[in-house]
Amino acid sequence: MIQRTISILGSTGSIGTQTLDVAESCGIRVAALTANHNIDLLEQQARIFKPVLVAAADMTAAAALAQRLSDTEIRVMGGQEGILGAASIPEADTVVTALVGISGLEPTLAAIDRGKRIALANKETLVCAGPLVMARAREKGAEIVPVDSEHSAIFQCLQGSGHKEVKRILLTASGGPFFGKTAAELENVTPAHALKHPNWSMGAKVTIDSATLMNKGLEFLEAMSLFDVPPEKIQILVHRESILHSAVEYCDQSVIAQLGSPDMRLPIQYALSWPERVPGPANPLDLFSCKALTFAQPDMETFRCLALAIRSAKEGKTAPAILNGANEIAVAKFLAGEISFLDIARVVEYALETVPREEADSLEAIRRADRLAREAAEACCAQR
Ligand code: MG
Repeated sequence: MIQRTISILGSTGSIGTQTLDVAESCGIRVAALTANHNIDLLEQQARIFKPVLVAAADMTAAAALAQRLSDTEIRVMGGQEGILGAASIPEADTVVTALVGISGLEPTLAAIDRGKRIALANKETLVCAGPLVMARAREKGAEIVPVDSEHSAIFQCLQGSGHKEVKRILLTASGGPFFGKTAAELENVTPAHALKHPNWSMGAKVTIDSATLMNKGLEFLEAMSLFDVPPEKIQILVHRESILHSAVEYCDQSVIAQLGSPDMRLPIQYALSWPERVPGPANPLDLFSCKALTFAQPDMETFRCLALAIRSAKEGKTAPAILNGANEIAVAKFLAGEISFLDIARVVEYALETVPREEADSLEAIRRADRLAREAAEACCAQR
C-alpha cells in the first residue's frame, strides 16, 4: 500500500496508464485525471478510479465528456483551466506530470505552488525552466521526484549520500532503434521505422526523440537541474540492453547503479512510494536471462541532436528552451511527413543559430524563447 492521493496530468498516455496500474496495485487514491481529447479512455478510467475531477484540454471533448459522466458525481472541466484545476486540486498530495512538451510547465508550477509532491514525467519542464522550477520547489517545500527511468535510477543511487561526494553521473542511453547506423542510412527513415523502439513502449514524441537521441540530450539537461550538476559531471553511456538504468560515480571511485527490467511502472511507483519501497506490479529482473551488459560511447556525429542539446546545456540561458521549442516543431513535422528524419537536427540547429539568447530567469523569457524557436523552426521547415 502507498498512502497517497494523486492527480495524473495526462492519464491516457503511456505514463498515465501505467501510473493507474501502479495505483490499482498499490491502493493509491486518485483525485484527478486529465487528457487532451481521448475521452473514451478517460471516461473508462473515471468510472474505475472515481476521481473528484476529470479534465480534457480540448473544450469540445470536455463538453462531450461532461455529458457522458452526467450520471456520476465527478466534476468535469475543460481547457487549460481544467488542467490547472487538476494540478492544484486540494484532495491530491501528489501530481504525476505526464504531459508532453512545454505544455507541462504551467501546471507543474501550479502544483509546486500548492506544495505538492511532483512525480515528474514531463522532462521538457526542467529542460526549459530548470533553475526556475527547482528554485520555486525549494521555496514552496515541494518535493520533485523523477519518473524518467534514468533519473529515477540516479535518484535511487543518490539515497543516503551527500552532493559533495558525487564525482560523476553516468546517464545510460539505449541508443534507440538506429544504433550503429550511418547518416546516409538514416536519410530515408520514415516515422513508422522511428516509432519502433527496441526496449521501451512510450508515446510518439519521446519515441522519435529516442530515435534521434534528442531524448538523451533532454535527459542530460533534466539531470543537470534535478541533481544540480554541471555538464562536465555527466557522462552518457550507450547501454543497449536497458537493464542498468543509470549510475552515480562517487569521489571514492565507487559506482552505484540501479538495475531492473525495462518497465516504467517501477520508476513511477518509486516516485510515489519514496522514501519507502513496497511490492508492486513491475516485472522482476532475471539476471541469468541477461546475456551481457555492454557500454559504448554515443555517436554524436551521426546523432547530431544529442550534440546540439549538450551544446545548449553548456551555453545555458534560454538556449535549452530554444532547442526544445524547435525540436517539438521538428518532431511534429517529421511525424506529419513534412520533413526528413535528418532534418530534425537541421531545424533545431537553425533555431539555435538564429534565435537570440536571454537570461532564463522568468517565465516570460522562457515563453518568448519557446515562441521564437517555434517560429524559426516553422520557417526552416517551410524551406525544406
Ligand atoms: Mg528516459
